[in-house]
This record gives sequence, structure tokens and C-alpha cells, in this order.
Amino acid sequence: MAIKQTIIRGGLESLYFSGAHIVFRPFVGGVGAILTLHHVRPPRPDRFQPNRSLEVTPQFLARLVRGLRRSGLEFIGLDEMHRRMVERDFKRRFVCLTFDDAYRDTLRWAYPVLKDAAVPFAIYVPTSFPDRLGELWWLALEAVIARNNRIGLAIDGRDRKFDCGTVVEKKTLYHELYWWLRQRSTEAEMRDIVRRLAAFYQVDVAAFCAELCMDWNELAQLAADPLVTIGAHTVNHPILRRLPKDAARSEMDLSRSVIEAALGAGPVHLCYPFGDRAASAAREFQLAAELGFKTAVTTRPGVLFAAHRQCTTALPRIAVNGDYQRLRYLRVLLSGAATALSNGFRRVDAA
Ligand SMILES: [Zn+2]
Repeated sequence: MAIKQTIIRGGLESLYFSGAHIVFRPFVGGVGAILTLHHVRPPRPDRFQPNRSLEVTPQFLARLVRGLRRSGLEFIGLDEMHRRMVERDFKRRFVCLTFDDAYRDTLRWAYPVLKDAAVPFAIYVPTSFPDRLGELWWLALEAVIARNNRIGLAIDGRDRKFDCGTVVEKKTLYHELYWWLRQRSTEAEMRDIVRRLAAFYQVDVAAFCAELCMDWNELAQLAADPLVTIGAHTVNHPILRRLPKDAARSEMDLSRSVIEAALGAGPVHLCYPFGDRAASAAREFQLAAELGFKTAVTTRPGVLFAAHRQCTTALPRIAVNGDYQRLRYLRVLLSGAATALSNGFRRVDAA
């Protein structure tokens, strides 16, 4: 998920207007950055869009590309990023674009913009999505809340009822249930709760995958373009940290084999699902390194420093947040000032 909105709301405007990021720049600016994107598509009118921060418009993506190029940043692919890190080739600050989850809108809306501008980019594929076995449980939860005014759920053995008739109630409930689900002790327990909830309120969990995610033919189309790097994103998109170690390792390893079988080349770059501290940490970073991935990315916020060459399977990224589709917000994030503040000025965070 994105950087905590509180940090952005509390810090970004003031950082921008105070010019603090210019003062910080030599210290925190780093050698480059990796950006996280999810959906790229035209805006939708619905007022209840709890995952709105995960999407930007094609127009914003085009402006982003132009704006970053004008600022002197060079767009490079993940292989080149890895080479520069390892060889300490930091002549020019660089930026890598990464798209998580292999949504169909990456092909339909992002690809034409990036192809036109000759911008390399990576797509991280959870293989169960093109295999049509994926559970986009966060969207099933959104649909249940969107379509009902009141929902019931057993929480800690007690039957609870929640009002969700208004947009505000829906947003609050979504946020609470999302994080409650994320905190279940096992992946199986969390998925079972969502499955039962979806079945009861007649939401088809499997439908999101077929509707929103690319199939293997669509992915092959993109993979054939030298601009595109296909990366691994596990098989089932689980919270790796709450899986037993062997299961976490298989999720990473198997997804690589499946992609190799489907597209002809095994990925050397990995993305941890959800990618925050609660979802992936030292054990996962170690596993990815042992499995031979050249790089692996988190969603911990930050720019890249030369020191990240010591831990290329624990790289931070900067989320392009759909709630803040203005270039100046992104410039502040890329300056490293906002993320340095939220990281307590710690540059490398691989624990
Ligand atoms: Zn993902």
C-alpha cells in the first residue's frame, strides 16, 4: 500500500512550500528511485473508492513521464538499475517504473503512453492472476461494503453488525475491516473469512481476476517488447510474513517457474505482495537473495542510495498515489525529503 496518508497530508504541502526538500536534497536525494503504480485508467465517478490511491489516470502518467524527464531523471529498466547499483554507476539520477499485479489496464492505458515515450517499465505478476485462480480479496471486501447498507460478520466469535449506508460509513468500515483482516494470524483464516463474507453477500470473488487482470496471451504481448521487464510477485499474492518459511519460499520460487513456463524466460526481479513491514521483512529478503533474485522491492517508502547495493532484495519504492495526482507532490517524494522524515533519516532499512 501507499505511504501513510497522514505523513503526506502532514508533511508534503509544508515541505513543498517551505522549500525544505531543496535544502535536504544533497543529503537525502539518493542515486535514483523506483516508483510503484497499480491501476492506470480513466477516473470513475463512484464516491466510495477505498482503493482510489492505487490508481492514476493515463493523462497523469503522461505528465509524470514528461515532468520527470524534464527534471533530468533518466528512465531505466530493472536490469540496468541493478547493473548501476552493483557497478556504482551513478552519473545520472534514474527512475524505474514498476506496475504491480498485472492489471489489464497496464496494457490498455499505461502501455501506449510508455511505448510512445520509449520508457522502460516492469510488471510484477502474481501467477494465480493470469491463471484465473487469484483472489483479489481486497476488492471483494470493497464490493460487499459498496453493495450493502448493513453487513454482519463474526469477529472473535461474536456476531457483529456494521452500518454502511453512507459513503463515510463505508470508508471507515472498509479501512477497519481491511486492517483487521490483514492482522489475522494466518493467510488461510483471512481468506476463509472473505470467502464466506463474499458468498453470503453474493459477491463473486473469482470474477475480479477475470475482469481486471491480464491473461497469459496479453502478458506475452507485453513481454515481447524490450521495454518491458516481467517480474515475479509470488503465486497467490499472500502476506509472506505470516506463511511458514517453506511456504514463503515456494511462493517466490514457484511463481518464477510458472512465469518461465508461460513466457519462456524466468524473472530475476521480485516484488513482495503488499510490501509493507507487516508483510515482508528480513526473512523474506534473505529468501529472495538465496533464491537468486537480483532485486526485490518492498513498498517501504524511500529513494535509492549507493548503500542499497548491499541489500538489493530489500529495495524501497515511492508510491505514485492516486489521491495526490500532482507532479509537485512526486517531486517532493523523489527529493527524498518526505521519505527521509518518515524514515527518521535512516537511509537503508532492510530489517
Ligand atoms: Zn500486489
